[in-house]
Amino acid sequence: PAVLRSVEVETPNVTWDAIGGLDSLKQTLQEAVEGALLYPELYHHTKAKAPRGILLWGPPGTGKTLLAKAVASQARANFIAVNGPELMSKWVGASEQAVRDLFAKARQAAPCVVFIDELDTLAPARGGHGDTGVSDRVVGQLLTELDGLHECPNVLLVGATNRPEALDPALLRSGRLDLQLKVDLPDEASRLAILHVHNDDRPLADVDLASWAAQTEGWNGADLTLLTNQAALEAIRRYRRQGASDPGAIQIIADDFTAAYQRLLEQ
Ligand code: ATP
Repeated sequence: PAVLRSVEVETPNVTWDAIGGLDSLKQTLQEAVEGALLYPELYHHTKAKAPRGILLWGPPGTGKTLLAKAVASQARANFIAVNGPELMSKWVGASEQAVRDLFAKARQAAPCVVFIDELDTLAPARGGHGDTGVSDRVVGQLLTELDGLHECPNVLLVGATNRPEALDPALLRSGRLDLQLKVDLPDEASRLAILHVHNDDRPLADVDLASWAAQTEGWNGADLTLLTNQAALEAIRRYRRQGASDPGAIQIIADDFTAAYQRLLEQ
């Protein structure tokens, strides 16, 4: 049975501006895209080395998927996203086949960015697990596909993981996932940038985003997105309670953020 029944090929439209913070990372990625997908011939001609694969590692909810989509968007490339666990199958040979199918699909859709989230589940360090060897064969297949990308310069693999130490080290060797970037939790300035990304097109009244950035130490981008959306929901509830009927007059006020914050803390 085929594991990878249907992979969806997307053409994402995520601008670099839609990602708050992570400035130097964004710059590094932009150059990598140029090398890997936009001007491979320049790199080929000058023998400059463009990354064949990129590993984004760090805590969850920090924008790794978003970054991979921005890479594809900048290159006007197709985008195929899969989760490591969804490729794994208990059927003999099916997981390797899923990896083969994934890359075959990517080559068909080239230029294409293949994004594999939770890469550590697909490609854990080989040997010593006492399992049936399934993951060893899957890692082997993944390495074969990655090495094959040298013949197919317009397919780029972006892998993401929260556990880089669990990955098979062979994946990180030169010519494979050779650009490894840490995507960290946002600092205060980055939290403010993220809050702006998600709020600048919303009808905000007296909300002091800077003070929210200051009091959300340890929050990731996904949490801040949730806070923002929850505040908008609070505003809607408030308006409905008031029986107001003009949606154009809804404003998101400081109290909505406070209520949203309380709600998130209680969850
Ligand atoms: P995971 O490791 O859990 O897969 P991730 O690092 O891939 O997480 P994303 O899926 O990119 O995180 O982020 C989740 C959501 O959080 C995004 O869709 C976006 O709304 C928001 N978000 C995260 N980081 C940022 C950021 N730096 N700027 C703007 N929005 C962000």
